[in-house]
Amino acid sequence: MAVSDHVDLPTFMEGVKKRNPYQPEFVQAVQEVAEDIFDFMADKEQYHAQQILRRIAEPDRVVSFRVCWEDDAGNIRVQRGWRVQNNNAIGPYKGGIRFHPSVTESVLKFLAFEQTFKNALTGLPMGGGKGGSNFNPKGKSVREIMRFCQSFMTELYRHIGADVDVPAGDIGVGGREIGYMFGQYKRITNQFTGVLTGKGLEWGGSLIRTEATGYGAVYFLANMLATKGEDLVGKTAVISGSGNVATHAAEKIVQLGGKVLTLSDSGGYIHDPDGIDQAKIDWVKDLKNVRRGRIEEYVAAFPKASFVKGKTPWGVPCDVALPCATQNELLGEDAKMLVANGCKAVAEGANMPTDLDGVHTFKAAKILYAPGKASNAGGVAVSGLEMSQNSERRSWKEEELQQMLKDIMLGIHQSCLEYGDQGGGYTDYVKGANIAGFKKVADAMLAFGVV
Ligand code: GLU
Repeated sequence: MAVSDHVDLPTFMEGVKKRNPYQPEFVQAVQEVAEDIFDFMADKEQYHAQQILRRIAEPDRVVSFRVCWEDDAGNIRVQRGWRVQNNNAIGPYKGGIRFHPSVTESVLKFLAFEQTFKNALTGLPMGGGKGGSNFNPKGKSVREIMRFCQSFMTELYRHIGADVDVPAGDIGVGGREIGYMFGQYKRITNQFTGVLTGKGLEWGGSLIRTEATGYGAVYFLANMLATKGEDLVGKTAVISGSGNVATHAAEKIVQLGGKVLTLSDSGGYIHDPDGIDQAKIDWVKDLKNVRRGRIEEYVAAFPKASFVKGKTPWGVPCDVALPCATQNELLGEDAKMLVANGCKAVAEGANMPTDLDGVHTFKAAKILYAPGKASNAGGVAVSGLEMSQNSERRSWKEEELQQMLKDIMLGIHQSCLEYGDQGGGYTDYVKGANIAGFKKVADAMLAFGVV
């Protein structure tokens, strides 16, 4: 028998840290998964012998490239672009593209790692990947955005394909950017394929893809509450972010009878004690997608609301919380405050918004807490459905897709219950999601041997 990898968790993490210096986000994401998987693997020799976790935590490849573009003033600008192809054991690499100045290789490696488990949880055949650039879209003209997207795709196109790797949107990349990138891909390759998701409805996109991440997160939240015999009617919700995920999460909370108190962006948060209803949500969508403004402008339009500069909204008392902005936006002390204020349930719309301290706080308090890889999987799930529709060359109806999204979120919830039930009525959703996602990918990898 070969020497197996029966190292303990601290030794395993020591190795991860050593091999990934200066990549704190990636190390954090691996740590959160490894904490649960080590327990699960304790009596499963084959996972150790085949070094499965070690292999999932080493991306299949990381492609890094230069992206040159010319700004409106004629200056030549240079950005770095990446595609991290983490794992394709159960399907083509799949995951979004993020344009934000905070993007680093560490951030994209953590996102691609998380995506691997998330995509497995959806039950659809998708591996895990992620890409992006440190390009800052804020303040750029539409022509500059277009030129950047085209330049980015001029390199990326050789690494992707409908059966190879299928990118989509993420922070800073929405329908407009997907359009520019798809146009460039088509121009270079002369192929009209389902190489990207999040496309426009006229050119291969899927209904409800835009709404799916936010709606899915609220479906998941409702599923969690239902285990306690509760629903969202009359519940107050604190939401961070004001982009695609946050506004659609808010919309679904309102539709299910809840009251949304906050939204935010990197400048601070707005608190509207009257509740952010559908008309106000539509106003925010227009502010962010059309006028490209800042959330603080909300208080001029709705004077009963207040704007709190430079702060996150976690101190506002609420029944449920949905972090829908970005990684590490909810820290240990925020988690303590939420719990102390009586928050019953947290469903993450963003990827890894809660830091490790916060995760441990929610787990210790035994509240209903869903990690992003479970609760925000609705977006990539509908991306998976977009891929199927592209392969079939047809478009499914909205009702069919709505039902599929609900069923997928319920399926993920059930997987979490199956692997996360701790007895005494407490479900550790982090553990459930980690184990269910890991098991599927790991078993596929075992079938392939050492590759
Ligand atoms: N960026 C989204 C996520 O974090 C969606 C990815 C996709 O649709 O491929 O899951």
